Amino acid sequence: MIYMDYNATTPTDPRVLEVMSKYFYEKFGNPSSIYEIARENRKEIERAREKVAELIEADSDEIFFTSGGTESDNWAIIGTSFALKNKGNHIITSQIEHHAVLNTCKFLSKLGFEITYVPVDKYGIVDIDFIKKAIKRETILITIMHANNEIGTIEPIEEISKIAKENNILFHTDCVQTVGKIPISVKKLGVDMLSLSGHKFYGPKGIGALYLKKGVKIETLIHGGEQERGRRGGTYNVPGIVGLGKAAEIAKQEMFEEEKNIRYLRDKLEKGIVEKIPEIMINGHPENRLYNTLNLCVKYVEGESILLHLDFEKIYASSGSACTSGSLEPSHVLLACGIPHEIAHGSLRFSLGKYNKEEDVDKVLEILPKIVEKLRKISPFWREKK
Ligand SMILES: *Cc1c(COP(=O)(O)O)cnc(C)c1O
Repeated sequence: MIYMDYNATTPTDPRVLEVMSKYFYEKFGNPSSIYEIARENRKEIERAREKVAELIEADSDEIFFTSGGTESDNWAIIGTSFALKNKGNHIITSQIEHHAVLNTCKFLSKLGFEITYVPVDKYGIVDIDFIKKAIKRETILITIMHANNEIGTIEPIEEISKIAKENNILFHTDCVQTVGKIPISVKKLGVDMLSLSGHKFYGPKGIGALYLKKGVKIETLIHGGEQERGRRGGTYNVPGIVGLGKAAEIAKQEMFEEEKNIRYLRDKLEKGIVEKIPEIMINGHPENRLYNTLNLCVKYVEGESILLHLDFEKIYASSGSACTSGSLEPSHVLLACGIPHEIAHGSLRFSLGKYNKEEDVDKVLEILPKIVEKLRKISPFWREKK
């Protein structure tokens, strides 16, 4: 099989799996208990917290473990809104956020919060002037993602966080696609809150973290016991936390090496597709883009049909659109970039990772042009054009 859908999820690194495995049977103690096997687990949790903190240049007491990127996004946005509802009810986000952010904002709008969705240019870069103009007295939060999961475009987070700071507004960023791929420093980014997720960088699923800068007070979302200094209840997911720590440690050591290889493969794939298939459109920013992501539109065919044919050849990619989740609308991200509906329907996303090999790229370059040719032959739009 050829897996090129690393932005959706990554396989767990065997080294991560190995450290996790002990915590299911042998060291299963509930860290909140007082006996030996429990206390040891508490230490391991704190070690993992330090490793996650190191990966993003935070202090370990600014890291709070959650069930993943979705929960971290929900907590940052809902927690801020509830904590500051007497100060204001206005939130600024972008049109191209992940649904973990967009649907959280939609939920809040039903509760009386007002949401401004910042537009993006054709490359998917948010309009900074629009943000400046949208800020008002009631604005309590700006939340803009670091890199977009569909097209890979990297947003000017440092610039936006400055604007937020100047206006005394809390700033959250969804870094699920960048943590573990590129160096992240919460200090350099200047953010108050940051979401990350284990399974996007070779850790396990169901574990993530929210960075909360010291002094930032947001409301609790998951009420329960006194875990996470009383700010996030629920029995510790010890294997997950230890796995996340190990994944963070590996990423810190190896991401530069990985980048070289993955960037080479992505560029080769992109170049090859452009050369072999006519009427292709590459989406996202040409330079300010994740080095593993290739999003393109194949004109006159449906991305979904191409995916099914690729699937038949055991090549796994994504359309990057909501079609896969049962909606017929093309991707909100591509539409926000101004790509017309009919072209956006032909979108494909290849997102590469550390286990891809050059043969994988060669195989895709051999098979994809044949699939497209076949589908275009039966496409009325293609024939009309000819
Ligand atoms: C995957 C993803 C999420 C959701 O993270 P989970 O850990 O799967 O809940 C949020 N934001 C972005 C940008 C993502 O790519």
